[in-house]
Amino acid sequence: MTQLIDGKAIAAAVGEQVRAQVAALAAAGVTPRLAVVIATADDGAAWYVRSINRAAARLGVGCAVHELAPDAREQTITSLLASLAEDDQVHGIVCQTPLPAGVRIERVAQQIPPAKDVDGANPQSLGMLAAGLPDAYPPATAAAVVEILAQAGTALEGRRAVVVGRSTVVGKPVALLLLARNATLTICHSRTEDLASVCREGDVLVAAAGKPALIGAGHVRPGAVVIDVGISASADGSLVGDVDTQAVTGIAAAITPVPGGVGPVTTMLLMRQTAHAAGVLAGLTS
Ligand code: NAP
Repeated sequence: MTQLIDGKAIAAAVGEQVRAQVAALAAAGVTPRLAVVIATADDGAAWYVRSINRAAARLGVGCAVHELAPDAREQTITSLLASLAEDDQVHGIVCQTPLPAGVRIERVAQQIPPAKDVDGANPQSLGMLAAGLPDAYPPATAAAVVEILAQAGTALEGRRAVVVGRSTVVGKPVALLLLARNATLTICHSRTEDLASVCREGDVLVAAAGKPALIGAGHVRPGAVVIDVGISASADGSLVGDVDTQAVTGIAAAITPVPGGVGPVTTMLLMRQTAHAAGVLAGLTS
């Protein structure tokens, strides 16, 4: 029997925490405010930014979306990020990907100070995470993976975790967060030989490759907990993850669905990190 982990229920529980954070901030005269910079015509990015906006409105978090042209120059993006970094009314900054051709998130996000980098895009935040410093925010997606594992009661200490994907947005920060929880880590990527047998070592398997059905029955250790981060559009327009859910049902102990798994939790963790940043910047919390 494979449990389907309900990301929407976990997101709702995190949403209640955020409501309490926002109420405490309001009592001190602070409204947390998020700024989202978007410079793409990508449908998936537009959908994600709309979901951030909706969540913010529901929770009393201010959210301003700054739309730039899909061919905006690097200088235009860095100038906007630098001015948001200076703005005392802004507590959290997200620079949405994809960015215009030739513009790298790792470069432009250096304008976002770690204290406002609520989606962990500045390489400095990743370095602080690697160094075990508590003052940096991980990317919300990476934070969502460990939140889901915690809510699902999955033990990590001393257990084998395999992460498929090594991007700075998902794979590497997920691996760092799992390592910080004393899991024994393996990171796989496109050059990994015999991916299936490496994945089968995992008590926990996190798939973040963006390749539909990459993970099948032969990749999953019986009883493993599988977190599917991947989001791809299938031929009929529906969203699919990296895991062939049907194939691994009956093998995995638990799995997150796509959609309705990591996605909604990611949005809520962005809200939680924004509210936390507002509290820290206002000198109310440490
Ligand atoms: P990315 O930058 O394209 O990285 C993909 C990673 O997967 C790379 O490290 C790549 O290896 C590896 N990979 C690709 N094909 C592989 C294969 N056949 N076998 C093993 N590894 C393979 O993507 P990303 O930004 O990390 O995103 C990954 C997925 O997560 C995407 O589907 C994205 O849409 C989704 N996502 C979801 C959320 C959410 O909230 N749910 C948020 C962000 C991203 P190399 O390094 O060797 O190229």
